[in-house]
Amino acid sequence: MPETLAYPKKINCLDLKGQQQQIKAEVFAAFEQVYDNTAFSGGPFVESFEKDFAVFTETAHAVGVNNGTSALHLAMLALGIKAGDEVIVPANTFIATAWAVSYTGATPVFVDCLADTWEIDPAKAEAAITKNTKAIVGVHLYGQPFDIDALKAVCDKHSLFLLEDAAQAQGARYKGKSVGGFGEMGCFSFYPGKNLGACGEAGGIVTNNEAYAKHLQSLRNHGSVVRYYHDEVGYNMRMGGLEGASLRIKLKYLPDWNARRQEIAKQYQQRITNPKITMQVQPEGAESVFHLFVVTTPDRDGLIQYLNSKNIFPGLHYPVPCHLQKAYTSLGYKNGDCPNSEYLASHCLSLPMYAELTDEEVDYVIETLNKY
Ligand SMILES: *Cc1c(COP(=O)(O)O)cnc(C)c1O
Repeated sequence: MPETLAYPKKINCLDLKGQQQQIKAEVFAAFEQVYDNTAFSGGPFVESFEKDFAVFTETAHAVGVNNGTSALHLAMLALGIKAGDEVIVPANTFIATAWAVSYTGATPVFVDCLADTWEIDPAKAEAAITKNTKAIVGVHLYGQPFDIDALKAVCDKHSLFLLEDAAQAQGARYKGKSVGGFGEMGCFSFYPGKNLGACGEAGGIVTNNEAYAKHLQSLRNHGSVVRYYHDEVGYNMRMGGLEGASLRIKLKYLPDWNARRQEIAKQYQQRITNPKITMQVQPEGAESVFHLFVVTTPDRDGLIQYLNSKNIFPGLHYPVPCHLQKAYTSLGYKNGDCPNSEYLASHCLSLPMYAELTDEEVDYVIETLNKY
């Protein structure tokens, strides 16, 4: 292809259309079953998915809910987190990790990430512990497991709960085992753009603890086990039947889709040789599913402009770290409190990453980056 010519087709960070077309007939047939059974809220299609997802994550229980933010919120409630408590969360995550803490009345305490893996720094997490700290949330950021052994050691030493935010990491593994079951609970999002995304909004919590599972089932359903008898103040956070049915079908394909993402990531890692591009380092034993392929570069605006001129449109995850969000001004954080997260926020961009990218498109992205 001539050097001056941009790729004829726009290459976005994410494009869901190819995947949805691939499974459309199968999903529509399942939708018809949900419809004919009027199983729109919870019900057998959600229960089937929950069983399959527990097997997939190698955990004893999966509880489906209406989105990933609710999954985190209910997990906080099941842990008994309440006003006056503190929960340590990474400064560089999607904001919903912090929302879940705030919803309970507790305070999120933001700590910085490591400079190379971009995952929560276990030493900084330990330094942030006070007598009010109840839990630490680790986030498997961009689909890559954080250093679970190190963070779990900190939690065990100080008798704190470990919660996994696995919203971006369906199928990721750590030392040979699926993420989700390492902490008290693992919270997943099935937002359409995630590696496993519903046709609609959905989320889920996995756990090996039956008491948590029972409590979560009640909390998501108005605090009720027996209909119209309410044991505590609960929520309407059930998963919809159409969402459950679509997820159950997509779960079958997820290992192949994740494998393709891993193959694309390997190409990026091995063949992007431009020294102006820095990639995420994987902790020992971490097997990422590359929900996103984030890189940093000194002049981000310059690189984005250049890529756009070549018909490549990267994403930005995320431009403002949580501790500097306007919503959390009252907590009093300032620029410089979490320097690694701040650097990441102002220098990161997300390269095109989804299973349906063709080899030709991947080659084009790599060549274009190497010419920058
Ligand atoms: C997507 C996401 C969530 C929230 O999930 P929703 O389903 O969008 O509510 C929470 N944490 C992280 C890290 C996420 O990426």
